[in-house]
Amino acid sequence: MEKISIIVSCYNEEAALPLFYEEIEKVRKNDFKEVEFEYILVNDGSSDRTLDIMKDLSQKDNKVKYISFSRNFGKEAAMLAGLESAQGDYITLMDADLQDPPALLRKMYDLIKNEGYDCVGTRRVTRKGEPPIRSFFARIFYKLINKMSKVEMVDGARDYRLMTRQMTDAILSMKEYNRYSKGLFSFVGFNTKWLEFENVERVAGETKWSFWKLFKYAIEGITAFSTVPLVLASGIGLLFCLISFLLIVMIIIKTLFLGDPTSGWPSLTCIIFMVSGVQLFSIGIIGQYLAKTYLEVKKRPIYIVKEKNF
Ligand code: UDP
Ligand code: MG
Repeated sequence: MEKISIIVSCYNEEAALPLFYEEIEKVRKNDFKEVEFEYILVNDGSSDRTLDIMKDLSQKDNKVKYISFSRNFGKEAAMLAGLESAQGDYITLMDADLQDPPALLRKMYDLIKNEGYDCVGTRRVTRKGEPPIRSFFARIFYKLINKMSKVEMVDGARDYRLMTRQMTDAILSMKEYNRYSKGLFSFVGFNTKWLEFENVERVAGETKWSFWKLFKYAIEGITAFSTVPLVLASGIGLLFCLISFLLIVMIIIKTLFLGDPTSGWPSLTCIIFMVSGVQLFSIGIIGQYLAKTYLEVKKRPIYIVKEKNF
């Protein structure tokens, strides 16, 4: 019998997790009579009753496995822990809040089985119910990163996807510390089919991603999959050299033909400010990459497990 591993990362999901379990079990009983399921619930350092609920579920149902981190390591770490523990022939990643409709799973499975895809991803075509400012920045982010990176990032793509064992192993072979899954999924290649769906609002609880957290995640994505910002600094530098060369020529000619009335210190101050601003900005960009490299070189564990039941 073939097995599907369902990985669910949970951070303070006491309200949503029982609803999620109920829903996915319904899908399993109705649509997957010939396939075995395995649930891998990853508790990402929740401070509520999430772990207790996981324990209850695992006692009632031996398909449920759980891993609990020693603190909050972030969703990327939770997904990695799940992927590393999954035993299934097919692996799927889902959120606990039912924003990733379990009902799509059968269709995803059929596409892989019958049409030879290695992966079926999902993308939201609307962002209904999301704060408009968040959608706005998300759109800018996708435009930017797709210009800067060779790896294609699909706007609205979710982490919710069903993959073959082969593709999962390819993802696991990438051991980087700064993980940006949307990029990693795309980087490994393979045949991906996209299913589209309308945004669904979270069933219970609230979003764990603040604007600041998302901003940092966006920087993560850019630094992990593009070095264009580094080139930007040299580009601006070159432009400034050219401008200053032209200015020097102009000043020499002006002095020779018109004399040299001393003036222009305000413009000088402005130029100094601007140039030093550009320099600091460029150093900041280099700093970002250096910081990522620093963390990468340290080889710290991506997550630390406190307890698990398998
Ligand atoms: N999550 C996690 N660790 C975190 C933040 C979030 O495991 O540090 C999980 C969360 O429990 C949920 C999923 O990641 O299952 C998506 O989070 P959320 O629904 O809050 O994000 P949104 O859908 O609003 O982007
Ligand atoms: Mg959500």
